[in-house]
Amino acid sequence: MTKLLLIGGGHAHLSILRSLLHEKMSDLEITLITSSKFQYYSGMFSGFTEGLYDEDEIRIDLESLCSRASVSFIEDTIISFDPMQKVLLGFSGEIYHFDVISFDIEPWVSSELISTSELTPKHHFIEKIKKLRSSEAPVIVGDSSRAVELALSVSSWRNTYNLSNSVTLISPSSLLHSYGAKATKKIREIAHDHNLEFYENEQVNEAKDSYVTTKNGTKIKYSIILPITEPKASSLFKQALLPVDSDGFLLVEDTLQNDEYPYVFGAGNCVTISMYSELVKNDFHATKQGPILWRNIKRFLFGQSLESFKPYTSPFSIISTGKQQGLFIFRNVTLYGKWVWYMKNFNDQKFIKRHV
Ligand SMILES: Cc1cc2nc3c(=O)[nH]c(=O)nc-3n(C[C@H](O)[C@H](O)[C@H](O)COP(=O)(O)OP(=O)(O)OC[C@H]3O[C@@H](n4cnc5c(N)ncnc54)[C@H](O)[C@@H]3O)c2cc1C
Repeated sequence: MTKLLLIGGGHAHLSILRSLLHEKMSDLEITLITSSKFQYYSGMFSGFTEGLYDEDEIRIDLESLCSRASVSFIEDTIISFDPMQKVLLGFSGEIYHFDVISFDIEPWVSSELISTSELTPKHHFIEKIKKLRSSEAPVIVGDSSRAVELALSVSSWRNTYNLSNSVTLISPSSLLHSYGAKATKKIREIAHDHNLEFYENEQVNEAKDSYVTTKNGTKIKYSIILPITEPKASSLFKQALLPVDSDGFLLVEDTLQNDEYPYVFGAGNCVTISMYSELVKNDFHATKQGPILWRNIKRFLFGQSLESFKPYTSPFSIISTGKQQGLFIFRNVTLYGKWVWYMKNFNDQKFIKRHV
């Protein structure tokens, strides 16, 4: 029996599990090993933060999904990998063997202290959000739409619970700069309306004695800091001497297969596709990679030629802005209102329901 290990319950592997709900694989033993029984859907973090969803509503029960998909489930965190010997070591001390392996793991930097490089998986993020929401002077650092969303949802939550101290967002660039000048202008207005204090084009230099000091010398009071940074690579691949890019992400071909070890596959934010090295790491691409990853694993097992992943960008973006409102951005057009949030809510709930 061929052993296929899926490491991590990320978006691409969720897509494989969904396929396996309707597909039976003979002669293939499939196991999912992942750090948590629950996979949190980050698209709904903002709604959770604002108090619109309970924890149960924004997560997928992987153990239950695996059982329905006839996949074995193991809750463990992989800490070491030997691709030559085809073995892995889990944090539990357990050793795992495989014939074919696929990675869809993504650690996030979300430490309280700006200077540490602690990698926090998303299932710990909920606790951080809860602490942050009610803290005296919460500071969020980052320039992505996620940082803006989170800052606005913390503001909304505090508004509901009459906590008067405002939330601060420190952004290394203009707010939503990658979405164009109109989006920046609109989000600044929204931030003012939501009592969100924000600093643009400021980079944190140090956080000491309850004050953040930026490189421009601005001093900002804080009780807790949450950096929402770009994804950071797991050290797993570099330590395993697998081919990685300059940031430590596993290098794969556009077939999502590693060139040096053809029985190693990967998708989502833990990989860099050699020919699309500039591709933004987000859940849109991770989700789109899922069906191709699964077809290519099967093609590899049957000795067939693999197909290529061709990325395309979503034509529009939706940013939740708190108080059940949202910003819809399509090219140079920005639309703001409650209907945007309801559309996002509909899509997010639909995604979760596909796994229950
Ligand atoms: C606050 C916040 C809000 C966000 N909002 C959005 C958004 O609105 N839209 C968007 O596109 N992106 C958003 N993101 C980013 C988004 O979370 C990622 O882009 C996306 O989830 C990446 O998917 P993935 O499949 O690579 O991995 P993930 O969905 O992160 O899944 C990784 C899986 O691997 C497991 N794992 C990790 N390490 C190990 C290990 N060593 N061993 C075993 N298992 C392991 C984890 O438990 C998890 O199951 C947000 C991120 C944050 C932090």
